[in-house]
Amino acid sequence: MKLVILGAPGAGKGTQAGLLADRLGIPTISTGNLLRAAMQQGTDLGKQVKEAMDAGKLVSDELIIQLVKERLGQEDCKDGYLLDGFPRTLAQAKALSGFAKIDGALSIEVSDSEIEHRMEGRRICSKCQATYHVEDNPPKVEGICDKCGGQLVIRKDDTHDVVENRLHIYHEETEPVKEYYRQEGLLLAVRGQKKLADTTQLVFDALGISL
Ligand code: ADP
Ligand code: ZN
Repeated sequence: MKLVILGAPGAGKGTQAGLLADRLGIPTISTGNLLRAAMQQGTDLGKQVKEAMDAGKLVSDELIIQLVKERLGQEDCKDGYLLDGFPRTLAQAKALSGFAKIDGALSIEVSDSEIEHRMEGRRICSKCQATYHVEDNPPKVEGICDKCGGQLVIRKDDTHDVVENRLHIYHEETEPVKEYYRQEGLLLAVRGQKKLADTTQLVFDALGISL
């Protein structure tokens, strides 16, 4: 299955994608994580995108399309994948249609005020990028990743002003992508719930997969 996961920043795309990926045995391709890894490694790509990312702005379509195209061409993607954080603009969606046949686009719908609350509590593993929330999805030991023992940190772009900026960009640039998939007959919308597990249930139901 080749699936696009849509939703505002902080809607829980990454978490749900991770659960689906485990269940389906296919990889999650997260453009945010690919870019953060490039930044940490200090590659040319990482240097090019740092400024935009720290400000919560979008990286150029050209760069991101090339990155995703290359990633989807790798061996582990041949039986399917989940795309988390891509496409984020209409141009990206159209480009994707040119090199991949997507089976569906799952949109996780969450209000702006709920998003703001969530971002403040979000923590991410500095080693493996797993995400947590101090209230909704806490790690077993405070500040430590359950999966790899890495330190949990607050992302630079999860601060209040940057969150506002990212929400604005989401409404302007990414909502048209939802419309695009609706017109293609590929859109599945699910309302994000307070409890992570409740959203997961709705997501699996919408896709016709048992938990
Ligand atoms: P979130 O899902 O929390 O909004 P991501 O981790 O997906 O955040 O992305 C973080 C940042 O990476 C974005 O704010 C943007 O700067 C950059 N980025 C990720 N994916 C894309 C994309 N498809 N197009 C442009 N920029 C992107
Ligand atoms: Zn970890």
